Amino acid sequence: MSDMGYSGAIIRLTTDAPDDNMSMALNLFFAKDGVSWARNCGPEPEFGDIKLTDLIRLAAKTMKLDDLELPEDDSDLDCHMADMVGDGPEEPEGLLAIIHTAGWAFAELRARLKDYEDSGAPRIDDKELATLEKAVQEFGAPAQVDMAIEEMSELTKALLKHRRYCEGCQAKGEDRLEEAIAEEMADVFIMLYQLIYIFGNAEQIQKVVWGKIERLQKRFQAKDKREETP
Ligand SMILES: [Mg+2]
Repeated sequence: MSDMGYSGAIIRLTTDAPDDNMSMALNLFFAKDGVSWARNCGPEPEFGDIKLTDLIRLAAKTMKLDDLELPEDDSDLDCHMADMVGDGPEEPEGLLAIIHTAGWAFAELRARLKDYEDSGAPRIDDKELATLEKAVQEFGAPAQVDMAIEEMSELTKALLKHRRYCEGCQAKGEDRLEEAIAEEMADVFIMLYQLIYIFGNAEQIQKVVWGKIERLQKRFQAKDKREETP
């Protein structure tokens, strides 16, 4: 891990418009349309984005590895590189394969992190998670479940208050009411993490979330189809 890290800062790590060395490094490889790309690594003078497979071909050319017969098809090249990674960094093709593996694996991990950051779900690190788990151990699960119920009702109240005062009105303390909603949502997130710890069902929650969103997608697709049909 680089000591230039952003640890502790309230900042997202993934971006499509990196503007300094650190964000450029963190977003160097990315996934687009199911393919891995390297940002600004294309040939001069444009230095544009380049597909990882083309980057490998370009690197082979730069290293004057003219004898290498790299597959022309991208999927074949991906498979070939996966086979070659065991050759290690002392073999030129092994070195290319290491760059290739680092590139697609980084793009894959970045895509996963980007989904998470795009969702707006608050990030907690392992120490913060340990603190929340300690709260359950110290105060007991029943007390924390009660607290979760309390926080959820506080969020309900904040939402109702906002609806009562702010519907169609711009002036009347809207900022203050929105701040209250943010605070109560934060409380509910903190309690949700503890409920996951208490009930130990993260995987089940994930499956249910996917299932429900899929149902919603299907509803929208059916609606769009109905509207298309004259
Ligand atoms: Mg609260």
